[in-house]
Amino acid sequence: MRIVVIGAGIVGSAIAFHLSRRGAEVTLLDSGEPGMGASSHSFAWINAFGKEPRHYNELNRRSLDTWDRYARLLDADIGLRWGGQLTWTSTDEDAEWLKENVAKLQSWGYIARLIDERELACLEPGLRPGQVSAAAISENDGHVLGTKAAQVAVRRVEQLGGTVRSKTPALGLDVVGDGVATVQVESGSIECDAVVLAAGVAVTELAAVAGVTVPQYESPGVVVKTNPMPQIIESASVLYAPPISDDQPEIHVRQGTDGVVMIGEGSQESLARDDSQEHADRLLARASHYLPALASARAVPVPVGYRPMPRDEMPILGFTESVPNLYIALTHSGITLAPLIGEFATMEILDGARIDLLDPFRLERFS
Ligand SMILES: Cc1cc2nc3c(=O)[nH]c(=O)nc-3n(C[C@H](O)[C@H](O)[C@H](O)COP(=O)(O)OP(=O)(O)OC[C@H]3O[C@@H](n4cnc5c(N)ncnc54)[C@H](O)[C@@H]3O)c2cc1C
Repeated sequence: MRIVVIGAGIVGSAIAFHLSRRGAEVTLLDSGEPGMGASSHSFAWINAFGKEPRHYNELNRRSLDTWDRYARLLDADIGLRWGGQLTWTSTDEDAEWLKENVAKLQSWGYIARLIDERELACLEPGLRPGQVSAAAISENDGHVLGTKAAQVAVRRVEQLGGTVRSKTPALGLDVVGDGVATVQVESGSIECDAVVLAAGVAVTELAAVAGVTVPQYESPGVVVKTNPMPQIIESASVLYAPPISDDQPEIHVRQGTDGVVMIGEGSQESLARDDSQEHADRLLARASHYLPALASARAVPVPVGYRPMPRDEMPILGFTESVPNLYIALTHSGITLAPLIGEFATMEILDGARIDLLDPFRLERFS
């Protein structure tokens, strides 16, 4: 099959990679450079903790379990690190929330458990957690370098014989008939058997050209980075720390295999637009409160990033009913989900499979 994949972020590159492995003739287009969209602004946490409802948790968790296989297939250093999410709370109310959450996740068979202060200190000797009302670890969770993973996958697509065209925006798409589609680019049009739309926030605009409505809302987010630091976080892949004062949300902190520490505020979906140096300095100061070794780090603001965000926050995956050879792959938590989406989309496109696990995530739920 000849397939055009529009968008070379973590999601589009994973789909293009798996399609190429299976022998499809792939053309991968990106309007900019691969991996430089939302995937480059991401905290890039691989997790399912706190993700609901259950079928969404299950999807994330399956993908989490697929990441090792994906990394093995890519066969390069993509900064994948495991160790688990370490969460602790400082108030009785939040402790109740954490205990209930862990109990629910355990009942779903998710690897998570409550730990005491002694174990918390053993796991992270450099951590000064302050008042601890409850603590938990979900040992399965990890993180990765989002841009690097996308760029390696793109390289593999080329090595497998695919065509990669950077700085080549798809301008439109058309269904010519008999299952044949064309994608318009500046230099002309590319004929193919199926189009995969994985252009992140731009999916809505491009789908509209083909008469397909993909509802999304704007979801700006901000992470802060530091200069590369010696190892500060010993074993956990992510620390999820309580607010220092009532007027501030919680923070999450990770250290990449490149030594860079990343800090985010609130939850993975929190809306934020302040990408100023002052904000970055404040966030770093809050992280240093818990990790004193960070006091010598320098805060590097990252420009605000826009999460691809379907209106109901659940992924939109699969062929559309109105344009049968148009496959949509639009999702938040795309770093976590990319390896599974890559494999599932490939089976649906090349084998004609219909994966029932994806049924809750079809576009048609909006109609
Ligand atoms: C602040 C922030 C924190 C996040 N934290 C996490 C996290 O911890 N864990 C997690 O799993 N997820 C997280 N996410 C979400 C995750 O980053 C995204 O879901 C994921 O990166 C989406 O990947 P994508 O490939 O779909 O989109 P993108 O990475 O945006 O890639 C889309 C690509 O399409 C290209 N494109 C656009 N228009 C066109 C066109 N017309 N023609 C050709 N190409 C086009 C763009 O140039 C871009 O390269 C976070 C996101 C943000 C912003």
